[in-house]
Amino acid sequence: MSILPIYLYGCEVLRKKARRISEVSDKDIQLIQNMFETMRENGVGLAANQVGVLKQILVVDISDRENGENTKPMVVINPEILSEEDEWEMEEGCLSIPGIRELVSRPEKILLKYNDVNMKEHEIEADGLLARVLQHEIDHLNGVMFVDHLSATKRTLLKSKLRKISKGDVEAKYPVKAKE
Ligand code: ZN
Repeated sequence: MSILPIYLYGCEVLRKKARRISEVSDKDIQLIQNMFETMRENGVGLAANQVGVLKQILVVDISDRENGENTKPMVVINPEILSEEDEWEMEEGCLSIPGIRELVSRPEKILLKYNDVNMKEHEIEADGLLARVLQHEIDHLNGVMFVDHLSATKRTLLKSKLRKISKGDVEAKYPVKAKE
């Protein structure tokens, strides 16, 4: 297993839509293992775009977070949000945007359809932190980043910080890759 560099805000791959996949290849399995390894120390979720791969694959592990103890790590392939309920604010961060954390408003509860690593289809209800992380990562697969949810004013205030990040001028505890 290896730790993959995280593509930083500004990289094109983070603004592209990932493709649905119809089967999980050995290469995909390796990618998924590496994604878990890459996320382990530093995050609770990771989308394939963030490691430069445009496939609809994301991983989530909130088991070391408060109220997440009973939630097993998940591999989510081809996710589709079928319905959403209620709205709440929570502070979010992103491995691709190191050093910035902001309150983001999102639905509190979602009904999610996805394939697992064996391509078996599931439909689950998720709420709280799990729903939050899933929505953040599904956004990534659609080329959307959490700062897109902020008000125009807030974004203006973050502009210079974001520019620095896009140039690779960051302090991160993990390997990163800035746009070329
Ligand atoms: Zn993110």
